[in-house]
Amino acid sequence: MFLMNEDAHHLHHPIKALLRMGSLPANTSTSGNQPRCGVPDYPPQRKVHHPGLLRQRRFVLHGGRLDKTDLTYKIVKSPPHMGEEKVRRIFREALKIWSDVTPLTFTEVRSGKTDISIDFRRYWHGDNLPFDGPGGILAHAFYPKTHRQGDVHFDLDETWTLGNHMGTDLLQVAAHEFGHVLGLQHSRVPGTLMSAYYSFSYPLQLSEDDKRGIQYLYGVRPQATFTSLPEVCRTDFDAVSMIRGELFFFKSGYVWRIRDGHLESGYPALASRHWRGIPANIDAAFEDNSGNIWFFQGEKFWIFDAERHIRGPEPTRGLGLSVSGIQAALRWGTDSNYNTYFFKSGSYWRFSPSENRVESVNPRSMQEWSDIPEDMDAAFRDLYGYAHFVRGRQYWKFSPSGMKLLEGYPRYVGIDFFSCRNV
Ligand SMILES: [Zn+2]
Ligand SMILES: [Zn+2]
Repeated sequence: MFLMNEDAHHLHHPIKALLRMGSLPANTSTSGNQPRCGVPDYPPQRKVHHPGLLRQRRFVLHGGRLDKTDLTYKIVKSPPHMGEEKVRRIFREALKIWSDVTPLTFTEVRSGKTDISIDFRRYWHGDNLPFDGPGGILAHAFYPKTHRQGDVHFDLDETWTLGNHMGTDLLQVAAHEFGHVLGLQHSRVPGTLMSAYYSFSYPLQLSEDDKRGIQYLYGVRPQATFTSLPEVCRTDFDAVSMIRGELFFFKSGYVWRIRDGHLESGYPALASRHWRGIPANIDAAFEDNSGNIWFFQGEKFWIFDAERHIRGPEPTRGLGLSVSGIQAALRWGTDSNYNTYFFKSGSYWRFSPSENRVESVNPRSMQEWSDIPEDMDAAFRDLYGYAHFVRGRQYWKFSPSGMKLLEGYPRYVGIDFFSCRNV
């Protein structure tokens, strides 16, 4: 259902494009003046590079997304015959359809610079994409990472209405344009919100294709039980890992980030902001020798190069692991062949990321790790080579020389890493 390269030069002529697409919903007219969105239908660039991926996906991405998920917007101008409050409500509702299924939030502000700017314009209006009076082109918007990122323009000459056939439905067109602003291109799947051609359908809803597209870009909305922020001074942790020299603590879909001993501002943040597609409750994480980050949950694992998804979910039994739900993963020690350890219930496995295998399906006992707690939640190595084992709100520190636990532990994670006074 993708636009193929040979279609590209026809796309400024709606009639030809229509004939070639041949996939309009049955209830739409093919009169040639079919109202449509003014955003050109570029062929997806990724098609060339990742044909395998595209077979599974039907939604079309422009190739970028906005860098943050808490977004502001302003309405510069409303159409004259629609009340301002009504217009405000329509845009709020149009944005909600995207925020309902993603971690995105939208906040209206009345002035100043905003992430999204909504305006009603006519004919030539300064962006080389002129409007054309009533009918035809209805609106257009600019993709992330372009020079007018966040701009949404509606053709002031349309008869904008809400919920009826008397004019053009502003809610529907607005929801479509916001899809572009967030990074989605036109979909050729009939009946989707991101279809280039306007057709009135009520109530407004995302198709599966639209939903998969936006969730590919921004991840899914955290489940209701996870929406309250975990309190760092009172929580335990799902996983902890040093990643590119910074320390990341994971809990219930959120992550804290510590650089040079200080919590970075803006954290906790949703982990899906950095690593799209990882589950909310990961079991373990580690960074391998080449700097790739591995996440484990249940019987699956995922691999990322920085924030770019490389592999997964794949079954952990493919790594030779006979159990699921490992409790912690730790890269530690000098044996470059087997310097990663998986822990579960008093047992551990040595793992070679280069071989993608544990050395034996049979685990070893943790007896030799002296008094390390058997059921740990997380483990990580700090910049100085010390291993840390976290259980509940406490942690133990293990010396690389002599393989022994340091005295004075366990201590509280909250006090030592997050400057909590009470834990
Ligand atoms: Zn469009
Ligand atoms: Zn414009």
